[in-house]
Amino acid sequence: MGDSEFDPSSPPPFRLSEIRSAIPNHCWVKDTWRSLGYVVRDIFVVFGLIVLAVYLDNWAFWPFYWAAQGTMFWALFVLGHDCGHGSFSENPTINSVVGHILHSSILVPYHGWRISHRTHHQNHGNIEKDESWVPLSEKVYKEMGFSGKFFRFRAPFPLFAYPLYLLWRSPGKSGSHFNPYNNNLFHHSERNHVVISTVCWTLMVVFLFKLYTIIGFLQLLRLYIIPYLVFIMWLDFVTYLHHHGHYNKLPWYRGKVKIHNIHILL
Ligand SMILES: [Zn+2]
Repeated sequence: MGDSEFDPSSPPPFRLSEIRSAIPNHCWVKDTWRSLGYVVRDIFVVFGLIVLAVYLDNWAFWPFYWAAQGTMFWALFVLGHDCGHGSFSENPTINSVVGHILHSSILVPYHGWRISHRTHHQNHGNIEKDESWVPLSEKVYKEMGFSGKFFRFRAPFPLFAYPLYLLWRSPGKSGSHFNPYNNNLFHHSERNHVVISTVCWTLMVVFLFKLYTIIGFLQLLRLYIIPYLVFIMWLDFVTYLHHHGHYNKLPWYRGKVKIHNIHILL
């Protein structure tokens, strides 16, 4: 379809069921052993890179390590994301345990993010209810202070915004992914899940602090903190691309009505 023929306000020329039926059956099979194989492979690579970096301890190698390890952290995130969707295994306990191990290791509160991510998928493109890269309404934009506007639109800050999103969500929204009593994000039946994930996240922070007392700040910075920032960059970069179409063709909706096609400045 040519650019001029595309009308984003028209309903898609296919139904969800047609997409589902077009996907081959074997893609719907959840193979726990195969999934675990990917986890083992990724953990092996993560520790292999750590051993290599510590052994070489060479400034010519560190940049390669940061790029490679940051990408591996992103790989761990993606596997944890699949646990959150239940596509990792048919067994919910395996999904939860593996998801907690993977996401806690890269400072993501597993259930807290899983639940808000589910909200995202259920409300994709809804300006009021979506969670990821939602365009600012004019009202929210006008309420933002200078620094908010500067960091969002004039600096590459959004590339590193994910930890702040976990803490405070996006402008115009409130609540933390760590707070089980955050009724904006979580149902009260989900509180215990959120508590478990926040505890696991805290244990990881304690572990990193203990590590810092043993190996020192510089080594922690080189081995974990910089790869963590590379991972955050990957996450924000990839999800940004997921939510922005070519030539502003992705429609956004308010309530049940499409408002208009919006271009977000990075
Ligand atoms: Zn998802």
